[in-house]
Order: sequence, then C-alpha cells, then structure tokens
Amino acid sequence: MEASVQSTADTKDVPLTSADEGRVNLIGLSRAELEAVITGFGLPAFRARQIWHWIYHRGATVFDDMTTLAKPARTLLSERCVLSRPSVVSEQLSEDRTRKWLLRVPGGGDVETVYIPEEDRGALCISSQVGCALTCTFCHTGTMALVRNLSAADIVGQMLVARDTYGEWPSPRGGRLLSNIVMMGMGEPLLNYDNVAKALGIIMDNEGISISKRRITLSTAGYVPNMARCGEELGVNLAVSLHAVTDELRDEIVPLNKKFPIKELLAACRAYPGANNARRITFEYVMLKGINDSAADAKELVRLIEGIPAKVNLIPFNAWPGVAYECSDDATIARFSDIVNRAGYSAPVRVPRGRDILAACGQLKSASERKQRV
Ligand code: SAH
Repeated sequence: MEASVQSTADTKDVPLTSADEGRVNLIGLSRAELEAVITGFGLPAFRARQIWHWIYHRGATVFDDMTTLAKPARTLLSERCVLSRPSVVSEQLSEDRTRKWLLRVPGGGDVETVYIPEEDRGALCISSQVGCALTCTFCHTGTMALVRNLSAADIVGQMLVARDTYGEWPSPRGGRLLSNIVMMGMGEPLLNYDNVAKALGIIMDNEGISISKRRITLSTAGYVPNMARCGEELGVNLAVSLHAVTDELRDEIVPLNKKFPIKELLAACRAYPGANNARRITFEYVMLKGINDSAADAKELVRLIEGIPAKVNLIPFNAWPGVAYECSDDATIARFSDIVNRAGYSAPVRVPRGRDILAACGQLKSASERKQRV
C-alpha cells in the first residue's frame, strides 16, 4: 500500500488561532485554575470537577453535551469559554499504519504529532515546542529555528485530537490503542519544562485521560538543570539522547553538550530520582555510518554508563531531504548491539516506523517560522 494523504485542508483555511478572543480556553488549565474560572462565574466549585470529567474523560468538544450541567450553566459557559483543540491541517497514514498529523495549535504555529501502533496498544509521540533551539546536526527539526514553546493546552490538545481520531472516549480502562506517550516529537521538553509538566499532570490525572507515569517517557538531549525535577515532580521514565561517547563528537552533533558535557549528563542520570533496575534510563543512540558506530564506540559506551540502571536503544538513522549522514549498515548495528548486550545491557534496535511519511525519529518538521520581532 502506498502512503496516503488522508485529508488536507488548504493551510490558509485553518485559523491561526481559534476565534476565541476574550473567551477562556478551558483545555490546558490545571484543576485549581479551572475551579477559579468556574467559581469566578458564580458557579459552585463542584461544577469544575464535572467539567473536567466531560473534557478529559468523555472527550466533550461543546458545552451543550455536558448534560449533568443545567442548561443556563451550559449557556453561560458557551458565552465565556471555549474548548479549543488543535485543528488538523493534514493527516498521513504510513504503509505500516503509523499516523502523522500536522496540527495548528490554539496558541499559534504548526507541529507534528505521530501515533505508532503496536498489536494491541500504541504510543503517541507528542511535540513540546514549535521548532527547536538545539540544532542537532542529524535531526530534521534541528534545521528549524525555535519558534515558540507550546502551551499546556497545545500539548494536551495533541492527545485529545489523537483520541478523537481513534474514538477512545470515554477513557477506556484497559485495552487502549493510545496506551503510551513519548515526549519525543518536535522540541526539547526540558526547555519548556513548566508547560510540559502541567500538560503531563493533566494527562496523568486519574479522573480524565488517566495515563500512568509508567507509560510516559520523556526524552531529553541532556538539559541537565531540569532532569532532577522531572524525576521528582513527574516521575516519568527518562530517555537521554546520548549519540556519542566523546565530548569532541557530541559537541559537534548535539551542540547542547558544550553546556552540559557527557560527564555532567551522566552524573544527572545516576542521580535520576526513581531510576532502578525495574525502571531503567533509556539511552538513545542514533547509528550514523562511520561517525559513532565502531566497536570501540560501543565499548566506550558500556564503560561510560557503568553503574547506571540503563538500557540502550539503538536508532537506525532516518534520512531527510538534504541531510549528509547515512545510516550504519545492518551488520555494524548488530555488532554494536552485541557488544552492549554482552556487557549486560539490553540494546534493542528501534524498528523505524513511518519513514515513508517522514514520521520516524528525527524527521519531523513544520513550515512555521518565527515572526519578525518589531
Ligand atoms: N529533544 C529531545 C526530544 C526529541 S526525541 C531529545 O533530543 O531527546 C527524538 C529522538 O530522535 C532523539 O533521540 C533524537 O536524537 C533522535 N533523532 C533525531 N534525528 C534523528 C534521525 N534523523 N534519525 C534517527 N533518530 C533521530
């Protein structure tokens, strides 16, 4: 089957922000904020809990569907509030059933979100920023400037759109297609920590979307100052984009390394709250032909991570238009994996998903540009 563009709207037809001027978007508010808004309108506080249930458990998109609220309350809410979700600019389905949405988020700008299905479950790959500031040389998003941080509404909204698409409302107890979340889309989540934390708090809340922290993985290129908070406050699984075993090479391909070199990064991993043998830290390692894929590199990797409860995820490099790197050969990847394995670490090779629609790791990009400052 060929990759298909399922639906495309003319980009110009999708409003940049929803026509919400003056009305409060209830999506993306914390419980406390929602309650403050609701009581500010003279409604009793317990209504906030009902509204929360309608938005995040039932997936309501309009106030009129909130039938446990009296009609006058629904009318008042429709006049003063909105439930703004991202609008779908386009949607593509890969031959391997990976789905990619280009979404225009309520806060402005376009981001990509990807769903990677497994047999009876699947992971949603969520973006945290429009563009990225980090300029990793092998990453497509890295060729985009950072346009802006996504708000909590923009981040939660990606999950809501995916749930709409797969009809997973009300929140199923088990047997979910959208069972896991990986913060591995566009952007560096630890450089937008507050909004990411707020959004994940909403997503984990057990009276709503209710995805457990054990099913959420946040990936960082190594923004050390926010790693401990991430473990303490959110308790999600951590993935670290290591990709090189010397500072010389990592400075070049993951320039954030110049600020937080390998030693500091690994010290933060050793101290990551909640990491243990049952909950290991994942080190991501992109396989770049002739750059970082030798047997000596594999041995050095094993030496570096010694003592950390870790697994290593080898990611075959995914090409994108204009890139100079190539993916390592299968045999080279297998040799690398063997060496790491023999040292006692699980080292699976990540099967590329959605390559045909540029939905695989490191292939995401949107046309959003930073507005000229005046
Ligand atoms: N900024 C975060 C989140 C992005 S996660 C981070 O760097 O961890 C995306 C993962 O895909 C990261 O491990 C990233 O390094 C990796 N990646 C980027 N470009 C890639 C490419 N072209 N092929 C394979 N993996 C890539």
